[in-house]
Amino acid sequence: MSLYQKYRPQNWDSLYGQRFIREALSNALLENRTVGGYLFHGSRGTGKTTVARIFAKAVNCTDLQADGSPCDRCENCRAFLEGRMVDVVEIDAASNNGVDHIRDLIERSRFQPTSGKYKVYIVDEVHMLSRPAFNALLKTLEEPPEHVKFVLATTDVHKVPETIVSRTQRYDFRRISESDIAERLRFVAEQEGIEAEEGAILSIAKLARGGLRDALTLFEQFVLGKKVTKSYVENRLGLVGDDFMHVLEKAVAERDSAKIFELSAETLRRTDPMKFVDDLLSYLRDRIVEVGVRSAEFPLLSDFFESVSAAYARARVSPDPMFVIETTIAKVAFGPVARIPYADVVAPARPAASAPAASKSAPAAVSEKVAPKVQASEAAPVSDGSGKFPGPAISEGEAFGMSRDGEFPESSEPTVAEIPAFSMLDLVAKLKGVPKTTTLVMALKNAPKAAFTNPSTFVIVPKNSLDSGVFARPESKAAIVDFLESLCGRTVSLKIESAN
Ligand SMILES: [Zn+2]
Repeated sequence: MSLYQKYRPQNWDSLYGQRFIREALSNALLENRTVGGYLFHGSRGTGKTTVARIFAKAVNCTDLQADGSPCDRCENCRAFLEGRMVDVVEIDAASNNGVDHIRDLIERSRFQPTSGKYKVYIVDEVHMLSRPAFNALLKTLEEPPEHVKFVLATTDVHKVPETIVSRTQRYDFRRISESDIAERLRFVAEQEGIEAEEGAILSIAKLARGGLRDALTLFEQFVLGKKVTKSYVENRLGLVGDDFMHVLEKAVAERDSAKIFELSAETLRRTDPMKFVDDLLSYLRDRIVEVGVRSAEFPLLSDFFESVSAAYARARVSPDPMFVIETTIAKVAFGPVARIPYADVVAPARPAASAPAASKSAPAAVSEKVAPKVQASEAAPVSDGSGKFPGPAISEGEAFGMSRDGEFPESSEPTVAEIPAFSMLDLVAKLKGVPKTTTLVMALKNAPKAAFTNPSTFVIVPKNSLDSGVFARPESKAAIVDFLESLCGRTVSLKIESAN
């Protein structure tokens, strides 16, 4: 017997997740107001069949417990547990989808139950029934005999005719949370005397995507000499672990194209491309939840997530899915999203110590003169930098504090000061005392461009006119300039360009 069967819950108390469904059904049982037709909808392994069986056992139990659970001791319960309860019939519509089968079933449902109070028909994957089979079922659902209950289970409710859905009481089964799955795995491991590493349990819980059956089935496959280790699980699954994903995220944040392609090649060696996309999306989803929408990392992470989601469908039908994924990731890395360097990811552009002290006293007027020169060098073709990528031109220094080769050619202007790296978090912390900080911070995060165009000029392009107004406030300007100047140790002028 598989672990899944062995640990299949037999009563409401031992059922994992689905609390609302459990309460609704156990109350209906206790108050004797169950109906003739139920529809259980939910993804695989979320407990539809398990709940259907507890329900079928409970409606026929002669000693219903105080929580609406079957007693597991009466004659009917024992018959059910031993697989000889003829009044409960389970059919799989995937293999018995013809109208004849359903007609036969309905014909037999007219007879009174043998030992129980009700005949219960559990129809798995009901969406697989043929159209005539649905029609035959519909007639019975319209006026079911008093002694008959139908429990229709499906993973795809949209393929079930509306006429059927409307004649049933519908319950939507939610995916079981990773922590609930992990808890169940720990319990089973303990019962079975299996030593399971926490990392292995978490990997399996994550991989099961809300399905407890898949989780237990996987877990069972990974038992090796009464042990389940993380390394074995990851090796067997070709899992691309979170450590790997973090390195990839870092490479994207740093626009390190060599690293991105190296990681992609590594991925292809270890796992299949679509599996990788699944893992990547799941990693990004977790990261977004972890960092929150107001974090410095959010713009990049959300762009990353949206781009990879959008590429998913294209990758599936492409003869070379990995190429679709690689170019998508490269586009995210070199795309137009305003880049805010991660405090822990981005190394200082250049050693701060090398900044010429003289520049501290450089008047703003000098930096204004420098500007056109740097602009001119920016206008040069960018292809030598990273011309491989189809994304928009990316050398405008929109990633402030982030150095890319050739961005600020040192040779062209020996007096040009260095631009130290800083993170949005530093700026946000500095802005705390400013009136209306929240709107200013939001405006900064929204800005399509907020960057040094040369070492003494910081340019912000507001997203819209509303944000322009926010930047135009003297206290906003003063706070940003103050921050930049204390960071650079020199005079910095702030230019707010007009919103497009
Ligand atoms: Zn019983």
